[in-house]
Amino acid sequence: MADADRDELAALVRGWTAHFEWGRESGAIALRRRGGASLPTAGEAPRVAAPVETPRVPAAVEAPSPAPVAHVVAPQPPRAPPIVEVAKPSPAPTPPAQAETRPLFEEPRRTFAPVVYAEERARLLTVVEDQARECRSCRLCEGRNQSVFARGSTNAELFFVGEAPGADEDRIGKPFVGAAGKLLDRILAAMKMSEDDVYIANVIKCRPPNNRPPEPDEAAACGPFLERQIELLRPKVIVAWGRTPTSFLLKKTESMTRLRGRWHEYMGIPVLVTWHPAYLLRNPDAKKDTWADMKLVLEKLGRPAPTGRA
Ligand code: SF4
Repeated sequence: MADADRDELAALVRGWTAHFEWGRESGAIALRRRGGASLPTAGEAPRVAAPVETPRVPAAVEAPSPAPVAHVVAPQPPRAPPIVEVAKPSPAPTPPAQAETRPLFEEPRRTFAPVVYAEERARLLTVVEDQARECRSCRLCEGRNQSVFARGSTNAELFFVGEAPGADEDRIGKPFVGAAGKLLDRILAAMKMSEDDVYIANVIKCRPPNNRPPEPDEAAACGPFLERQIELLRPKVIVAWGRTPTSFLLKKTESMTRLRGRWHEYMGIPVLVTWHPAYLLRNPDAKKDTWADMKLVLEKLGRPAPTGRA
């Protein structure tokens, strides 16, 4: 600080000091204590400072406590559905071959057409035979020499039903003309009957290759020819020779052993089931069964049964 300034400041202090001294002595100035009460002036009784009322502070309005916050679980964002591993769909099972599931033959017919008399019957059977000759309804037409329709009498009371033509039948054009046919003729002879007393036909009219059993669809395609033959002939007794005609006529899947030697029925006509002549050629011991069956047939026809074995 400069000397001039210092001197000026000292002069000011002295002036103020003199002023205060004058003021205190004259009572013009009362110095106040720190805290608010003024110091008494000279000659004045000391004053008791009135208690200073502390301004009342209004009770603090207790702020309403906030409503208890319920512990609300914040809504969860929608969760994605759990990922479930879905097994890849396996390919649809392959249906078994039709030949394994389908019934061997369709349902039997329920009613016959009205009876026709002998002349008309023969004529209608010729018409049906012509249809079979031209038929190409199944694959068997491809390997045939000719269709094989029937042999015997269209007036017969007895109808023999076989399975299908073999090589000899395919060549000659008549059913049961091979080795099995010769056995059938011997059976007829033992029954004291001839071809004039019987009508003979197969379920299948064309020869299956290698003499295999006919397929269900082949039997379904060809069966109506046999149905029409039976309908026109209206025999008194039918003999089913072997599995194929038995299944076709009776729609039964039981074994031949269970079905053989018993009477069954096709459209109200008695049906007897017996071994096929080809089976008898391979199993000669079974001939006695068939002979017993033929006796039942004769009995049903009202013919006398020969005694002894065939
Ligand atoms: S087997 Fe019967 S359905 Fe098949 S082609 Fe010969 S006649 Fe026709």
